[in-house]
Amino acid sequence: MHGLALRVARRMLMLWARLLAAPLSVLVVVAGYAVWAGEYALLLFVGGFVLVLVGGAVGSFVIHEVGHALILERCRGVHRVEIQSTKLRFSLAPQGVLTSAEAAAVAVAGPAACIAVGTGLAVFAQDLGLHWWYLVHAIFLVPPFGDGAALLRAWRVGAG
Ligand SMILES: [Zn+2]
Repeated sequence: MHGLALRVARRMLMLWARLLAAPLSVLVVVAGYAVWAGEYALLLFVGGFVLVLVGGAVGSFVIHEVGHALILERCRGVHRVEIQSTKLRFSLAPQGVLTSAEAAAVAVAGPAACIAVGTGLAVFAQDLGLHWWYLVHAIFLVPPFGDGAALLRAWRVGAG
């Protein structure tokens, strides 16, 4: 299962690139206009928007899935992981056997990776304001969300 995390990162970035190609090209044109017209407030606004979009929204979801993948690729019972993606959803479907402890670790790893990055950003780069994009991933550990549901399932299996 070596290289799963890289495969996941590449696949997600390609997906987002395709999704954001049109809006980003509009922003590049607007930024070009801002430079040409000397509208530096507009340039700053566009730059900030791109930073939040790429560094916050896209970055946090990539880190989240890479977190899952990093643990998943270390599970010995898993022989294949299918990467499932649509425009709205991205998920990893492991095939093989996961112990309940492994399943719990995989579920926690995605949000945990984001919480770690978010904490780092809050401490070292708070002015960027990006840390909330990462810290908010903690909510995925609440059961209506997939990771929370998987964690609960693993815990029930482990306890029962
Ligand atoms: Zn997740």
